[in-house]
Amino acid sequence: MAETKENIVMFPFMAQGHIIPFLALAFQLVKTNKYTITFVNTKKNINKLRSSLPRNFSFNLVEIPFNSSDHNLPPDTENTDSIPYNLVPILVEATLSFKPHFRELVSDLVSEQNGQKKPLCIITDFPEASSIHVTQLTDYLRVADGSDSFSVLMQKVLPLWKNVDGIMVNTVEELDKIGLMYFRRQICPQVWSVGPLLLSTGSKDRAGKLGISSQVCKNWLDTKPCSSVLYVSFGSQNTITPSQMMELALALEASGKYFIWVVRPPMGFDINSEFKANEWLPEGFEERITLARKGLVVHNWAPQVDILSHKSVSAFLSHCGWNSVLESLSQGVPIIGWPMAAEQFYNVKLLEEEIRVCVEVARGKSCEVKHQEIVAKIELVMNETEKGKEMKRKACEAKEIIENSIKDEKNYKGSSTKAMDEFFNAAFTMRESTLG
Ligand code: UDP
Repeated sequence: MAETKENIVMFPFMAQGHIIPFLALAFQLVKTNKYTITFVNTKKNINKLRSSLPRNFSFNLVEIPFNSSDHNLPPDTENTDSIPYNLVPILVEATLSFKPHFRELVSDLVSEQNGQKKPLCIITDFPEASSIHVTQLTDYLRVADGSDSFSVLMQKVLPLWKNVDGIMVNTVEELDKIGLMYFRRQICPQVWSVGPLLLSTGSKDRAGKLGISSQVCKNWLDTKPCSSVLYVSFGSQNTITPSQMMELALALEASGKYFIWVVRPPMGFDINSEFKANEWLPEGFEERITLARKGLVVHNWAPQVDILSHKSVSAFLSHCGWNSVLESLSQGVPIIGWPMAAEQFYNVKLLEEEIRVCVEVARGKSCEVKHQEIVAKIELVMNETEKGKEMKRKACEAKEIIENSIKDEKNYKGSSTKAMDEFFNAAFTMRESTLG
């Protein structure tokens, strides 16, 4: 008789920063050959995955009905990467409409089979329960004074977490001790830290709208000296103002450093619009940097993991989204932080004060930043200054900690590997006893 595998349902929030680590987890779990995985999302996101995943992927993709217009969102918007950032909380709130469909789907999956209910583990972030990066819990920064939209949202979401059986966190125990301690104490004692959940490059390239191929990036990076290139990206959903974009361009040029910059339409422009170099960048910018072989301007989406893992990359100017942070530290790349929203302000604090791999250059989307200030931070990190060398050393230490955490050897299992095993042991034990 064929062995029945245990069932796992995964339902990430509709944002690249959520779908990507969930996919990474799905691939990781498929390899164990122990589980049947059902990956749930809205039609457009599922279609995108269907056309982008390798042909032999072995989990079920299931669509859940969603009509963005019912929630006062632009028609057919099903991912944060295609709406202006101020609409993100509406998209989050709209996920509550999934409840009846999701319940139906789950009850079908646990339905009687040969007189037995099938055990099921649900991993999700925003339908009924949610997961948040632990460093968000402190509340002392001006931008998160309890009345900002992110805090207001979290005040609604946090009480729902009391209903979950356990929380899996995409972080690394040894790097995030204080946050995890608070998390266990204040939210839920059953917290497993299983990160980093990183998607291998090939799959991720296809998960986004790639503005340049990995090979072109690699070829370009191959021509640059070791540790000489700055990578600049603000993730999949944040954008900066036109004046910030001009200052950043001026800074990159003035710094004289090699760089790869992922440019998305600045605020005030249609998020899905074509690239408009002559409106968004200083006159002649692209031509000059291309001619001097100084920089690569990538439109919209770059193969980030490939770039960060190239030996020519020396630093990452980042909005400090948590996936970007983990991807950077996994490669030992220090960060110049420009937090913009959500938990990024807390991430920077953790990176700067605890892990000591980051300096902050600006904060928020409306701050005034002068190109000289950006140049000074780039030089601090990329030149052989005491601070720059110390940050690099700390980033290499973080890389080593991460590598250890995911080790799965005969005589040694890292903290994340152990936590992953424990999570699923606990999940299925709890489920079995609940289902009785
Ligand atoms: N990403 C990418 N190429 C890009 C921009 C983003 O591959 O040009 C990926 C990045 O590697 C990360 C995710 O998109 O895995 C962004 O997640 P993060 O938490 O850093 O930021 P968010 O987009 O959620 O603000």
